[in-house]
Amino acid sequence: LDQVSSVSPTIARAIVQELDDQRSYLKLIASENYSSLASQLATGNLLTDKYAEGYANHRFYAGCDNVDTIESEAAQLACELFGADHAYVQPHSGADANLVAFLSILLAKVEKPLLTSLGQEDPSKLSREDWNKVREAFHNQRLLSLDYYSGGHLTHGYRHNISSQLFDVYTYSVDPATNQIDLEQLRAQLHEVRPLILLAGYSAYPRKLNFAKMRELADEVGAVLMVDMAHFAGLVAGKVFTGEYDPVPYAHVVTSTTHKTLRGPRGGLILCKQEFAEWVNKGCPSMLGGPLPHVMAAKAIAFREALRPEFKEYAHRIVENSQALAQACLDEGLVVLTNGTDNHLLLINVAKTFGLTGRQAESALHDCHFTLNRNSLPFDANGPWYTSGLRIGTPAITTLGMGPADMREIASIIKLVLSHVVPNTTSSGKKSLTKYALDPEISTEARQRVQALLAKYPLYPELNLNLTQ
Ligand code: PLP
Repeated sequence: LDQVSSVSPTIARAIVQELDDQRSYLKLIASENYSSLASQLATGNLLTDKYAEGYANHRFYAGCDNVDTIESEAAQLACELFGADHAYVQPHSGADANLVAFLSILLAKVEKPLLTSLGQEDPSKLSREDWNKVREAFHNQRLLSLDYYSGGHLTHGYRHNISSQLFDVYTYSVDPATNQIDLEQLRAQLHEVRPLILLAGYSAYPRKLNFAKMRELADEVGAVLMVDMAHFAGLVAGKVFTGEYDPVPYAHVVTSTTHKTLRGPRGGLILCKQEFAEWVNKGCPSMLGGPLPHVMAAKAIAFREALRPEFKEYAHRIVENSQALAQACLDEGLVVLTNGTDNHLLLINVAKTFGLTGRQAESALHDCHFTLNRNSLPFDANGPWYTSGLRIGTPAITTLGMGPADMREIASIIKLVLSHVVPNTTSSGKKSLTKYALDPEISTEARQRVQALLAKYPLYPELNLNLTQ
C-alpha cells in the first residue's frame, strides 16, 4: 500500500477508507459479497500486463503459456463445478457475458444457416449485397425476456441498453396477483411471439425458476433457452438449486457473473452446450477486448473455493438467512413481496407500509449504516429512479457468519428506522420523493445496534491496512 501511496496518496487513502466503510456498514446489497483475500490477491499482480487475445492455446499474441494454463484451469474448474459441457471464462462482466452469449446464438442460429444457404462459409468473402442480408436477418430476431420491473436485468432488452437494439424485444411479466412468473402465461406468450431466444434469469426476483419446464416450453417453439444466473450462480454451485431448478442441464447457454453469490472476483462467465462452444470461444475478439488474465486467475481460485464442502454449507445458509429475514420482516409488519423468498434476496414494499419511496428508505437506512439499494417493484408507479421498494440480500452478511437470530435484529432495526422516516413537504405542498426527516435519536440508536452486530463478525480480521506515509 505504501507503493500505491507514494504515487497517489488519494487512491491509497480511498482503499483504506473503503475497508473502513465495509467494516462499519451492514452490507445488504443482494449483488455484492466479500471475496476471499486469495481471490483478491490473484487479481492484483503482473498478470495484468499480459495480452492474450484469442482463447487458451489459440492466441493472437506470443508468450501466453501461463495465461493458457490459467484460462484452461479456470474453464475446467467451471465445468466441474457446474457440470457444464463447456465454459468460457473471459467475459469482463455479466453484461459482457450476455452480449457474447447473444452474439454466439445469433451466429450459430442465424448467420451460419444463412451462410450455408448463400454457399459461402466465410462472411468476409460475401458481397456487400449478401452481407446486408445477414445483417438484416440479425436485426429481425426476437428476444423474449423478463421485464425490468418484474426483476429482469437491463441487459435483457431494456430500452436504454444495447440489447434492445440488437433484438426485437418482447417481455414477460410477473402475474400482478401473485408477483410470480406464471409458466402457463409464459407458454401462451411464447407461442404468440415465437422468439429466437427465451431468456430467463433476474436481478430482483425472490423465487426459484423451474428450468426443466422452461426448456420444455422453449422446445415447443424451437427457441434457444438462455439463462442468466448472475445472481444465483452461488446457489447453483452450492447445490441449493438442484434438479429442475439447476439451469445448467436444461439451458442451451448459461451466463453469469462471478462476484455475487458465487463470491469470486468481478467478472463474467458463460457455460454452454457443445453446439455453441465454437462461437462462445470467439468472444474475444468478436465482442470483447483482450482478456484479463489476472481476473481469470482469480476466477480459478473462486471456483476451487466453491468446490469445497464449506461452500455448499455457505450457499444453504444464504437462503436460510434470507428466509429468516423475510419472516422477521413479515413479523415486524413489513410488506414482503410474494410473502417470502426461495433465494438470496427479498423485496420490500416501503411505499405501501410507510408511504416512502425506495430512494428515501435507501438514504435513511444508509444514514444508519446500512448499505442496501432501492429497487423497482412490479408495475411500480414511482418509476426506476425513485421506486417503491428495497432489495435486500444476504450473501455478504452470511459470509461474515451471521445467522437467523441476527436476521431478527436486522428486521427490527429496519422497522425502527423506516417507521420514523417522515417525507418532507415540497414548496408546492406535495410529499417529497427524496427528502425526509429522521429523529437523530432514532438514527443514533440504529447505528449503535448495527455496530454491535458488526462487532460480532469482523470483516477480514487478518487484514491490517495501515498507511505509513
Ligand atoms: N445479469 C444480471 C442478472 C445482473 O443482475 C447483472 C448485474 O447486476 C448483470 C447481468 C451484469 O453484471 P455486471 O455488472 O458484471 O456487468
